[in-house]
Amino acid sequence: MIKKINHIGIAVKSLGLSSDIFTKLFGQSAVHTETVPEQNATIAFYPVGESSLELIESTSRDSSISKFIDKRGEGIHHICLEVDDIRLEMDRLKNHNFQFIQDAPTAGGDGYWVAFIHPKSANGVLIELCEKMK
Ligand code: ZN
Repeated sequence: MIKKINHIGIAVKSLGLSSDIFTKLFGQSAVHTETVPEQNATIAFYPVGESSLELIESTSRDSSISKFIDKRGEGIHHICLEVDDIRLEMDRLKNHNFQFIQDAPTAGGDGYWVAFIHPKSANGVLIELCEKMK
């Protein structure tokens, strides 16, 4: 079951420069910053009610975030939907012909399992599913 929008991911060139902008916007600094080797990225979260904005800076020239910024520039990268059982949701969505970027969930940031649905099968929108690790 899909529970809520967990966060909206925003690709940025420099977490330092963008943190400055978003800290002014929110009137507070990011509550959580972490490097996620599995995603070749450093992320910073700004909470908004039950959801948050996730700033994402690439840690590698050939990561998907670097490629995204090269192609489209900085901006909204993905929408993350929190689910109660990520494997169950992946099976359900595969049955509806959604194409996943990886076959199994991987470790995302902030203690979540994550999996990405290819934008080709979701109207050009990269969708991330996440489930809190137990
Ligand atoms: Zn995300």
